[in-house]
Amino acid sequence: MPVVAIIGAQWGDEGKGKVVDMLAEKSSMVVRFAGGDNAGHTVINPLGKFKLHLIPSGIFYPGVSCIIGNGVVVNPASLISELEMLEEHNVDTRGLIISDRAHLIMPYHMLFDELEEKSRGKMAIGTTLRGIGPAFTDKVARMGIRMGELLDKRSLRRRLAAVIEEKNTILTRVYQAEPLSVEEVYSEYARYADRLKPYIKDTVGLIDKSLENEELVLLEGAQGAMLDLDFGTYPFTTSSSPLSGNASLGSGVAPNRIDRILGIFKAYCTRVGSGPLPTELKDEMGDKIRETAQEYGTTTGRPRRCGWFDGVAARFSAQINGFTGAVITRIDVFDSFPSLKVCVAYNLKGKEIRRFPASISDLEQCRPVYEELPGWRQDTTGVRKWEDLPPQAQNYINKLSSVMGCQVNLACIGPERAQTIEVNPVF
Ligand code: GDP
Repeated sequence: MPVVAIIGAQWGDEGKGKVVDMLAEKSSMVVRFAGGDNAGHTVINPLGKFKLHLIPSGIFYPGVSCIIGNGVVVNPASLISELEMLEEHNVDTRGLIISDRAHLIMPYHMLFDELEEKSRGKMAIGTTLRGIGPAFTDKVARMGIRMGELLDKRSLRRRLAAVIEEKNTILTRVYQAEPLSVEEVYSEYARYADRLKPYIKDTVGLIDKSLENEELVLLEGAQGAMLDLDFGTYPFTTSSSPLSGNASLGSGVAPNRIDRILGIFKAYCTRVGSGPLPTELKDEMGDKIRETAQEYGTTTGRPRRCGWFDGVAARFSAQINGFTGAVITRIDVFDSFPSLKVCVAYNLKGKEIRRFPASISDLEQCRPVYEELPGWRQDTTGVRKWEDLPPQAQNYINKLSSVMGCQVNLACIGPERAQTIEVNPVF
C-alpha cells in the first residue's frame, strides 16, 4: 500500500479534512506534517460535525494511528481542549501520537505574535495570533522547546529559565510589556506534561514499521501551497511549508517513499488575511460565492475573500508540488450559477503572462484573463458517478484539469464522505 500526501493546493481551506477523513478508512496511519492550531479542518461524518486544529482527521477510525509530526508546532492547551472535545463525543483518542521532536508553542510566542502584528501596521500579515510564526522563528533560531522536553521536568525548568530571561529582555525593553514569570510558565507546562505524556513518542520508528508492513500511510498537510514561505505570496505567507517537499521533512518519511501527491483544490479560490489574491472578486459575485459556500474561517470565523479559479496559480502549485492527481471540492457551490469563469493567464502591465510572479507588487498589478464557461444549473449534491454529472460540470472539471496540467482523481459535491465522485482512480 502506498504513502499518499494530501496537500492544500491554493490558499488553504480547500477541504483537506474531508479527503483525509475519506481516505483514512483504509489507512493505518495519518501523519500531520506542518502548521499549528492556526489551521482548521471541518470534518462531517456519522459521528457528527467536528472542527479539528491539530489532531489528524483520521482520529475517527479506531485503530488508525494519528501522528502529530515533527513539522507541527503544538499549543498544548489547544491540543488538550481538542482531546476533551473528541472524548465528550465518544471518539476514541487512543490512536493519537505526538512526535517528541514537535515544537511547543509557549505563552511568549502568542504575546510576540500580537506585538509584532501591531508593530507591522499596514503591513500586518493577518496572522491568527496563535503564536505559530514566533514558534517557528524560535525553532530556526534554535531557541525552541520540543515536546520531548516535557518528559524531563528538571531540564524543562532549566531551559525555560534561560529562554524566558531572553524573551523578557525583549518584552520589557523593546515593547515595554510585562515580563513573564518562569515559575508560572513552568507550572502551567508541567501540568500539560502530565496530561500529554502518554502520547509523546519517537515517531520515526513507528512510521517506518507501517511502511515496512506496506500499510496505507497518509501525510496530512495544513494551509495551502500559495502560502508557502518560499513559493507563496511572501511576506504574506505562513511560517512553515505546506508543500509536498515538507510532507517528507515534517514527518520523517523519506521523499522516495511517497507514492502519490494529491493536490486539493476548491472549484474557486479563497483566501483569509492579507496578501495578493489575483482573481479576488470585490463585487456581488464575490459575495454570492461567499454566501453560497458559507466561506467563513474555521479557526477565526473571518469572512474569506473569494474569487474565480486561478489557473495560473494552480499550474504553479501543481508544478512545485508534483501532484500525481487533484481533488476538486465544492463543485456543488456552482449549482445555481448561470456561467463560470476560469483564469487562464494574467495581464501584467499590458503583457499576457502564464507564470506566477514572485513579486508582490507584480502580483498586485496582475489582471486575470478569463475564459467563460456555461454553468449547469442543476443540483449535483446527489450525483455519485462521473457519467451522471451534467455535461457542463464535466466540462468545467476537464477545463480545470487542462489549465493546471494535472489529472483530476476526485470531485466533491458536498461535505459528506459519500458526496464524492471518482473521476480517475487515485491508486
Ligand atoms: P481544510 O482545512 O482544507 O480541511 O478546509 P476547511 O475545513 O477549512 O474547509 C472545508 C469546508 O468545506 C468544510 O466545512 C468541509 O466540510 C467542506 N467541504 C469539503 N468538500 C466540500 C464539497 O465538495 N462541497 C461543499 N459544499 N463543502 C465541502
